[in-house]
Amino acid sequence: MEEDLRRALERNELALHYQPIVDLESGIITGAEALLRWTHPTRGSVSPSQFIPVAEDSGLILPIGAWVLREACTQAKAWEDAGLRPIEVYVNVSALQFRSDGFLDGLTAILDETGLNPKLLVLELTESVLMERAKLGAPLLKILRAKGVQAAVDDFGTGYSSLSYLRRLKVDSLKIDQSFVREITTTPDDTTIVSAIISIGRSLKLRVIAEGVESAEVLAFLRTQKCTEAQGYYFSRPVPADQFAKLHEMQVN
Ligand code: C2E
Ligand code: MG
Ligand code: MG
Repeated sequence: MEEDLRRALERNELALHYQPIVDLESGIITGAEALLRWTHPTRGSVSPSQFIPVAEDSGLILPIGAWVLREACTQAKAWEDAGLRPIEVYVNVSALQFRSDGFLDGLTAILDETGLNPKLLVLELTESVLMERAKLGAPLLKILRAKGVQAAVDDFGTGYSSLSYLRRLKVDSLKIDQSFVREITTTPDDTTIVSAIISIGRSLKLRVIAEGVESAEVLAFLRTQKCTEAQGYYFSRPVPADQFAKLHEMQVN
């Protein structure tokens, strides 16, 4: 797979799909998470959960991650130019990529080249990246924030769940992992955990995005808890950019 992945970039086999992020107060789409898709010539579509770990172990995540950032920023700028309502684009950044020496310079170059308003870019980092790299990550997040780039904690609740880094690191939002969200209306413990995360977020003045929303019941619960944003199959699966542009006028009641 590693060899195939190496050539996938050159062969143009990678693409980004975009999944809407909905503001729960207004019901409008305010963001899109960019999710990598790989169509292998013989194997067909390969899931990111299969190939991202291979990309990470082989170091290929560096060129792939740079391609993702460039592609997502180019797309977000194109939407802006096409007159769409502002869409924040959320990009997953892996540990190796975030700690690589060239990360900041690469990102700065991409923002300059694409001309995207940095405020429309949100980097998704996992808890473990933020924890492990707390020392190095803090200054980097500060520099990014000074540029206007936002940061979100991805899969919140599944990592070490040490809350002290939230005080030290400047992040803008928490994304509650879908494993908690999916069963909030049926599993009391998950209900409690999700409510607690939302209230922690609110106290720290962070936006809280629930991932994996698949039903109207879950959505209604999140609204009663004043969760700020949500993402999931209930609204839409991740779709190609042209479909996203059509979707984006959708309003959820
Ligand atoms: P993630 O960042 O937590 O992304 C959310 C995953 O949940 C996506 O899976 C998305 O398709 C899926 N999802 C969204 N809504 C629902 C729902 O309602 N129900 C269910 N069951 N699933 C939902 P996907 O696209 O397969 O990506 C899996 C993981 O691969 C991502 O998890 C992320 O960690 C990683 N990944 C994807 N694209 C990239 C990328 O460009 N760079 C890096 N470093 N990692 C990526
Ligand atoms: Mg993510
Ligand atoms: Mg996630």
